[in-house]
Amino acid sequence: MTVAENLAAIQERIVAACDRSNRNPDEITIIAVTKYVTIERTNEALEAGIDNLGENRTEGFFNKYEAIGNHAKWHFIGTLQSRKVKDIIHEVTAIHSLDRKSIAKEIEKRADDVVDCFVQVNVSGEASKHGLQPEETADFIEQLEAYPKVRIVGLMTMAPHVDDEDELRRVFRQLRALRDDVKRRKLPHAPCEGLSMGMSNDFEIAIEEGATHIRIGTQLVGA
Ligand SMILES: *Cc1c(COP(=O)(O)O)cnc(C)c1O
Repeated sequence: MTVAENLAAIQERIVAACDRSNRNPDEITIIAVTKYVTIERTNEALEAGIDNLGENRTEGFFNKYEAIGNHAKWHFIGTLQSRKVKDIIHEVTAIHSLDRKSIAKEIEKRADDVVDCFVQVNVSGEASKHGLQPEETADFIEQLEAYPKVRIVGLMTMAPHVDDEDELRRVFRQLRALRDDVKRRKLPHAPCEGLSMGMSNDFEIAIEEGATHIRIGTQLVGA
């Protein structure tokens, strides 16, 4: 399948999910996760109309960034090591995986401008997943006031790899409730409007539950 064909099918499913939940498809940003695919395939995605790309490792990010540069908006979606922060902060539109103060500290020290970040939350509680515990998230975000170059634009989670729709929905709902809690606090450094949730297997449920950024690899560009 070409990326254009995959994208058309995904857009149809986005529209249907938006219809079911009374939402406007314009509220949803598709991030094409290109970590599994070549530069050629990534270029095919751009030609098909994708303009947001996601990578989860700095090596993969640089490999693609060198070839594509500012022809795309870049999202860093994977675990970030503090010492790598300086290498990516001036190239990315957003970091989706902020989950430690050491990362915020490093952004503060190294960035020229404000960097948009999503705070990653481990809603499902799986030991294998990164992110803050739900109950520590709001306090963590309040404390980020100490780092004016870090702007919290939303929350991010990865749902467990299950087919159980109710379980997925519970995870997404919990992230949304947390987002609403932080948003209500009206913190100048944390507008926290966004919800980065939903991948190939669960993006429709994520949209029904309020996702603003969906991160799709396998079904869009391939595995
Ligand atoms: C790989 C990855 C995705 C995309 O996963 P698919 O199931 O291939 O759509 C989304 N988010 C993160 C953080 C990832 O690492």
